[in-house]
Amino acid sequence: MSKVEEIKSLFFKLLSVNGISGFEEPMIKTLMEELEPLCDEVYQTPRGNVIGVQHGTDPDAPKVALAAHTDQVGFIVFSIDERGFLRFRKIGGSVTGSIQGHQMKVHGKKGPVMGVAGIKPGHMTKPSEANTIPPIEQLYIDVGALSREEAYEMGIEVGTPITWNTGPAELANNFVATAAADDRAGLTAIITVAKNLKDKPIPASVYYIGTVEEEIGLRGAEVALFDLDVDMAVAIDTCPSGYQPDVKPVDIVYEVGKGPALQVAEMSRSTRISSRVPREWIAETAEKHDLPYQRGIMYGGTDASAMQQTKTGVPAVPFSIPRRYSHSPVELLSLDDLYHLTEILTHGLSELDSSFKFLRV
Ligand SMILES: [Zn+2]
Repeated sequence: MSKVEEIKSLFFKLLSVNGISGFEEPMIKTLMEELEPLCDEVYQTPRGNVIGVQHGTDPDAPKVALAAHTDQVGFIVFSIDERGFLRFRKIGGSVTGSIQGHQMKVHGKKGPVMGVAGIKPGHMTKPSEANTIPPIEQLYIDVGALSREEAYEMGIEVGTPITWNTGPAELANNFVATAAADDRAGLTAIITVAKNLKDKPIPASVYYIGTVEEEIGLRGAEVALFDLDVDMAVAIDTCPSGYQPDVKPVDIVYEVGKGPALQVAEMSRSTRISSRVPREWIAETAEKHDLPYQRGIMYGGTDASAMQQTKTGVPAVPFSIPRRYSHSPVELLSLDDLYHLTEILTHGLSELDSSFKFLRV
């Protein structure tokens, strides 16, 4: 199996595991199972973060954290009406335009329940409504229940998590479109790097971290490094890309398939600048090995900005896989970008030693 095929098979396995923010136990369990044969130790913290450690051969060599988040955007049951229809709200920034008319999986106490997000009949839609999307408060999910009591009996209650029910679609050019590419792709990356480095003793120590609740405010990453002796960190995540008909390249520089995205800055409510030392370490590694990458500025925030503010400050950089159609059921990325990201990090970590300088001046 080629390395890209191996990455695809791991990615698809992780995509079959559901877990919206705060309900990530299935993903936490799967991540621990994947890391256990690859690491010297693997543990979870009570907050839910997963930590896997590969100890390096030189205690004076850098200690580096690779983090990816275990949650995905989705929805949660907000109320159940007397006819058994579920009213729901978003967890994270799910796109409102990609809800109605989609299949949904409701993760009830008795196991998953299939549902569909209902939509007004086309025949009844007024011209004034045809080009608008109703607000989330007006949307509903139909699980076939005829009453609130029947929904309860099916194991559904207020607070039950919901995900889109979509499997990955394989497109041309090694592109894959799927719900939860964000951040099953990042988890695939950290496990792949751990595999690459397993039988290859290197001076540096590597911490493979699954962080909880990124999509609702970088919650796990804020505390993930607290107990760890880490010199620098890389947050591996997806980022929005341009080069789709409704996004101008001038507005987003990243293009799917042109290499992983090395972020100089993140722009959300406030601007966060990535740390120069890990950023240039990644850029120099990619250039030295002739591996593609794109340098730019992303919309949104990542775990890197939270990890930067841990303890007395940890230098951190977001290194991302560009994807179209963010936070929809068809997030589209290139398996080649994912592969190149893992190759750059594997080389970079292998070549780190005690001569590495962390000071910027
Ligand atoms: Zn993400």
